[in-house]
Amino acid sequence: MTDAITRYDLPQTAIPRRWYNIQADLPRPLPPVLHPGTHAPVGPDDLAPLFPMALIGQEVSRERYIDIPEEVREIYKLWRPTPLIRARRLEKALGTPAHIYYKYEGVSPSGSHKLNTAVAQAFYNKAEGVQGLTTETGAGQWGTALSIACNFIGLPLEVFMVRVSFQQKPYRRVIMQSFGSSVHPSPSEATDAGKAILAQDPDTTGSLGIAISEAVEVAAKSGGSKKYALGSVLNHVLMHQTVIGQEALQQMEIAGEYPDVVIACAGGGSNLAGIALPFVHQNLTNGKKTRILAAEPAACPSLTRGVYAYDFGDAIGMTPLVKMYTLGRRFIPPPVHAGGLRYHGMASVICELYDQGLMEAIAIGQVETFQAATQFLRAEGIVPAPEPSHAIAAVIREALAAKESGEKKVILFHLCGHGHFDMTAYEAYLAGKLNDYEYPQELIEAAMAELPKVEDPTAAS
Ligand SMILES: *Cc1c(COP(=O)(O)O)cnc(C)c1O
Repeated sequence: MTDAITRYDLPQTAIPRRWYNIQADLPRPLPPVLHPGTHAPVGPDDLAPLFPMALIGQEVSRERYIDIPEEVREIYKLWRPTPLIRARRLEKALGTPAHIYYKYEGVSPSGSHKLNTAVAQAFYNKAEGVQGLTTETGAGQWGTALSIACNFIGLPLEVFMVRVSFQQKPYRRVIMQSFGSSVHPSPSEATDAGKAILAQDPDTTGSLGIAISEAVEVAAKSGGSKKYALGSVLNHVLMHQTVIGQEALQQMEIAGEYPDVVIACAGGGSNLAGIALPFVHQNLTNGKKTRILAAEPAACPSLTRGVYAYDFGDAIGMTPLVKMYTLGRRFIPPPVHAGGLRYHGMASVICELYDQGLMEAIAIGQVETFQAATQFLRAEGIVPAPEPSHAIAAVIREALAAKESGEKKVILFHLCGHGHFDMTAYEAYLAGKLNDYEYPQELIEAAMAELPKVEDPTAAS
């Protein structure tokens, strides 16, 4: 055991030189994104007020690979390649014959995978002469990542931070401010969307959907000087994250194994896409049969209990309509929910893979999630963020099933961020204050009645 390797590192020369675009390989193309007013497919001109042309091009591109600009790759060198770790101590603690590997993105300066796309987005905006970015952030990881990226690239950033996080995670705010960003609690008085929601419900804890409405409004009303950046969900964001899975493919090869299952948590879908899409590519084009498993919270079960329908991306109903598994745009997770992953919808790419049977999903309650996180940190020494702890819970289920059946399964999971800013959630767990919470069926049904009435262009006629 003493010579057993637990960590697979790559040299910096192995940092991928291109992003992988799954749109080249999907058996069925993605459903079109529709204009919220006319319901006609949106074109580049509709998106131009919010995004630079390079990213709009990536959003619809069918090219299999897109080159990573040299300046972006230079910045990636600050933390990439990230390690692949064999969780031998966890395997031992579980007494499983399964081999468990994890790709760890918590070594990035922002502490999560989000910096991979933040740097790329800031780069393309700057290259097209944009003078500032706006964005929303929930738990603060995205706002932190984009603050770091904007600092490197040289762009001012305005962040709308979900009010409950603004209050509960003041240190995330201070990090963003240290990198030079300005941060508003959302809903705020700085936008019409924020004012309207505060007038209805002055004590609201906010939601990602509301914060998106505010950030989009500021960009849309800037006359082109400011654009908006989104940390997940969009095709180009998922594509930027594929550096993770491309590295993991190389590292698994060094380990001399190939995963039977790849597991990641799913909020908007970007960290899952990042690790999984290069393996889906192998499934679709190279005869591999790796299972892809999304782990989502029982409190926000978009894939497992949502409906695959056209819905708005934000709470107010300003964004284009996207076909996705949705819980309804007004979804606000219960305050007892400690596990992050609060978005009502899901990335289109992930929804199509799920709908086409190329991927599986399970929902996990928060008590099991924190039990799994605690078991993992005691074995491996890393405090995982609550979000990937859903994936860890799924890994433990798989590893115990392998123990039961005596199967030597190879499991790869994505530890997409550390949990150093999530200790209030751990504190609540340790104090026995976290309860399991199933999102009520009545709320899902009520939300479905409010879905925009859209003729689905992909429906069989
Ligand atoms: C943002 C974030 C998530 C959720 O977003 P995805 O797009 O689903 O990846 C999950 N984990 C961490 C650590 C995050 O920062």
